[in-house]
Amino acid sequence: MGLFDKLVVWGLPLVPKPVVGKFASRYIAGETLDEAVEVIKDLQTEGCCATLDVLGEFIKSKEEAEPAVEEYLSALNRIHEQKLDANISVKLTMLGLTLDKEYCLANVRRLILRAKELGNFVRIDMEDSPWTTDTLDIYSTLRKEFDNVGFVIQSYMRRSLKDIQAQMKSHKKVSVRVCKGIYIEPREVAYKDMAIINSNFNLLVRELLRNGSYVGVATHDERLVWAAYQIIHELKLKSEQFEFQMLLGVDEQLRNLIVKDGHRLRVYVPYGRQWYQYSTRRLKENPKIAANVLKNLAGW
Ligand SMILES: Cc1cc2nc3c(=O)[nH]c(=O)nc-3n(C[C@H](O)[C@H](O)[C@H](O)COP(=O)(O)OP(=O)(O)OC[C@H]3O[C@@H](n4cnc5c(N)ncnc54)[C@H](O)[C@@H]3O)c2cc1C
Repeated sequence: MGLFDKLVVWGLPLVPKPVVGKFASRYIAGETLDEAVEVIKDLQTEGCCATLDVLGEFIKSKEEAEPAVEEYLSALNRIHEQKLDANISVKLTMLGLTLDKEYCLANVRRLILRAKELGNFVRIDMEDSPWTTDTLDIYSTLRKEFDNVGFVIQSYMRRSLKDIQAQMKSHKKVSVRVCKGIYIEPREVAYKDMAIINSNFNLLVRELLRNGSYVGVATHDERLVWAAYQIIHELKLKSEQFEFQMLLGVDEQLRNLIVKDGHRLRVYVPYGRQWYQYSTRRLKENPKIAANVLKNLAGW
């Protein structure tokens, strides 16, 4: 950890909440579903679609999962009523994974079932490595029951190629978001060299697309966007076979360029009352984000 990173971690509790709020406001749609809906409408006018994320993770009691499920059900209903081009992304540790796997499975099943009734889709986010196997198990169980569910693979994980191969073997068609991975992981489980992480990203995207999977290319790294363009060109893919995905508030210029190229672009839209916990936890886990945030705020 560099000096700047250490300073961020050490100094974070001293930063007043309104200041963190100012940092966060660019990346978080607001506290309520109403606010998130307005952000989605704006994104749609720019030619983007969205995925809604209700902020929260690592709940400590089952009582905390119920409001999360209810909030997601409301979000699915609202997306349907207002005919928004949006789906939902869920974190399993918010739905009880750390407490009881079967309970978590039942919660996600409720969401996928409702999404299915409404013609919508549920993406299961990938969290840190202690939860990778359970997350893929839950995905796989639910994929046998439903076709409107997808998972996420992280290119920094050493196991990822094997994981997508196993899922492609078990299921006729899979929908996968490919990202680099956001958590700090030990070297035994995750690549540390950015060149390898990037090459692995391209390998995963290529393997998935070559096998007919639907891929969400989730990155703000223009080199990886270009590499995806190359793969799409070489495999002569149709636009229905993939999409690009970016986080709200990050490199809007690149976002517009991808949309201008005629590609589907989905923006990840987090919202909820837990924005402060989410923002500070992310910054503590990965202080490099703070550097990006500061760079963007300063307009460098
Ligand atoms: C739609 C979406 C969903 C994701 N879901 C998951 C998930 O389920 N599990 C998971 O582990 N990770 C997830 N991630 C995070 C991902 O793993 C990366 O950590 C993150 O996207 C940064 O990697 P990058 O590919 O953009 O490349 P980087 O090389 O990290 O970033 C490229 C450039 O983008 C800018 N940038 C990147 N991130 C930020 C930021 N947060 N704020 C400001 N500027 C930034 C910087 O200018 C940077 O130079 C998701 C990312 C996206 C886009």
